[in-house]
Amino acid sequence: MTDSTFTAALAALVGAAFGSFANVAVYRVPRRESLVRPRSRCPSCGAQIAARDNVPVVSWLLLRGRCRRCRAPISARYPAVEALTALLFALVALRLPSEGGGSRWDLLPYLPLMLVLVILSFIDLEHRVLPNRIVLPAIAVEIALFAVAAWRGPGLDAWVRGVEAGGAAFAFFMVLALISPRGMGMGDVKLSALLGLALGYLGWGRLLVGFFLAFVLGALVGLALIARGRAGMKSHVPFGPSLALGAVIGVLYGGPIVERWLGR
Ligand SMILES: [Zn+2]
Repeated sequence: MTDSTFTAALAALVGAAFGSFANVAVYRVPRRESLVRPRSRCPSCGAQIAARDNVPVVSWLLLRGRCRRCRAPISARYPAVEALTALLFALVALRLPSEGGGSRWDLLPYLPLMLVLVILSFIDLEHRVLPNRIVLPAIAVEIALFAVAAWRGPGLDAWVRGVEAGGAAFAFFMVLALISPRGMGMGDVKLSALLGLALGYLGWGRLLVGFFLAFVLGALVGLALIARGRAGMKSHVPFGPSLALGAVIGVLYGGPIVERWLGR
């Protein structure tokens, strides 16, 4: 096993465990419940979930998506969130240390970023809201983590660029939200500051690529929903997941895309 495969496998395991936490956050944060207490229970029968039934992805498969006690179906969202977080952690571990002058210290800001984006995306899909209780602390913590990563890695210039990019994205999305309040919420505006920081840290080209992809994805999702009769031209389609996915692609694969599109 090569060094990078080992790192990716390890990151996937850590990601699956954090994915389990992400499920708790997706369920509890919008309901204003505590993240640490009580222990997880079956929503149908109230049985406490034993540790052996709480192994990410594996338990859901072994139990065939049903509660051990009452056999009520458990949403496939749970293993999906765990698998997605595992995948994103592995991709960050594989891609980032080799990206544009990056170092292993880049994992410090980008792994928590992936976790936050998974949590926010699934909350937005279900509740059409990006809670301040997650977005605002995430911005503060990530500004600090990116400072450490820049200091140990590419230098503080990268951090300054990231903070400027976050501010620029915030201003741009704020204008969009004021022009078309129906399409974009204040949650999207605040999320764009976080994503601008993460993209801009890697370069201004990444910022363009990430947000361009976000708008393309958002438009495709909107059109697909309208085509399937799930949404009208004026109904609110959550934009958070498209924003997050565009930024994630920009972070992970923006380098090659920037080279091809912008010729540098
Ligand atoms: Zn049950």
